[in-house]
Amino acid sequence: MSKKVGIIGGGQLGKMLVSEAAKMGIYTIVLDPDEDSSAVSLANEKIVACFDDRAALLELARRTDVLTCEFEHISTEVLKYLEDEGFVVYPPAEKLEIIQDKYNQKMELKKHGIPVGDFMKVSGIEDIKAAAKIFDYPIMLKTSKGAYDGKGNSIILCEEHIEKAFMELGGNAASIYVEKFIPFTKEISVLYCGSTNGEVVVYPVAENIHKGGILYETAVPATISDTQRKNAIEIAKRVYSLFGSVGMLCVEMFVTKSGNLLVNEVAPRPHNSGHYTIEGCTTSQFENHIRAVVGLPLGKTDLIIPTVMRNILGEDGFKGIPVIVGAYEALSIEGLKLHNYGKKETKPKRKMGHMTITASTLDIAREKADRACKVIKIISK
Ligand code: ATP
Ligand code: MG
Repeated sequence: MSKKVGIIGGGQLGKMLVSEAAKMGIYTIVLDPDEDSSAVSLANEKIVACFDDRAALLELARRTDVLTCEFEHISTEVLKYLEDEGFVVYPPAEKLEIIQDKYNQKMELKKHGIPVGDFMKVSGIEDIKAAAKIFDYPIMLKTSKGAYDGKGNSIILCEEHIEKAFMELGGNAASIYVEKFIPFTKEISVLYCGSTNGEVVVYPVAENIHKGGILYETAVPATISDTQRKNAIEIAKRVYSLFGSVGMLCVEMFVTKSGNLLVNEVAPRPHNSGHYTIEGCTTSQFENHIRAVVGLPLGKTDLIIPTVMRNILGEDGFKGIPVIVGAYEALSIEGLKLHNYGKKETKPKRKMGHMTITASTLDIAREKADRACKVIKIISK
């Protein structure tokens, strides 16, 4: 248990990793450019530096036994350098490099016969028009790198929208591609976790609802057929064997109108759609990620009780020091747990916290979540 973990990124995922590590007495150092990032309040030590700061990452590696990250947009050049110096990084730079470019990630999935929607590389307005001729409107324009919470995506409904969407995503300076719009009936995700000794565990399939490209709700168990559940786990297993290493990996999928599954994207780390595992499962995704990277046995992943997770976003029209209102009323709802990330600044639609509701049925959990969502707000001073 004496291994020290270096965590690159001090956001909410980093905080929840640190929290689980602390429970097991595992020492953590968090690296983040923000000296007040969410995770530092719980970490043993912090390093304040940018994610591509080679010297700072080297220091993090020297002072810990293993490095891991809470997000994928990290300089793989620096990570490769650390690996060459003999340091251990999960996920390894080679895998992260493919995953962090969404176009390359999709190409790799397709190459290995994993079902994905149609997509094509574009490099300008004429290319986008040509893609729309093939796919039909609407189409999704996406930046290949640095995207999160739907930022970096733009739906194009007709030819008149192309220029605006193209410019919004960075124009000629950005690396972009087009995806065929999938009129899905549901979105689901599957979380896998692998350990250093080859042990692999999978979590129950989660059902996700996004609003404006941002995850709004995760509900588990997913209301899909047994065949779809089996297929989802099978597809995610194939993705895991392609991209998985040590630690968590999340596979987001669409359920199409005909009931088939298409992989949307992959995240090689704990994922927002796995927050429900803290209260809903025997072992959370964060605990298993930490156990995995330090070489401990993995914990059971079974669902204990129907669980609904809702994100709490910064209220529109408020920016600055956050104030949470309605926490008292929300916490008086039986089965509700509140997670406040402790971010120092709120912005419209910024992820500020989440709530998890466990109940005997999903309907009851949802009804309680609806009540809580009506009262909980993040405004600013
Ligand atoms: P994350 O927050 O998961 O990192 P992201 O910014 O990388 O998200 P995506 O997962 O690409 O974005 O897209 C966000 C959401 O937008 C999806 O969950 C889905 O609801 C919708 N979406 C993305 N691509 C498509 C598509 N091709 N067809 C239909 N909807 C899509
Ligand atoms: Mg996504």
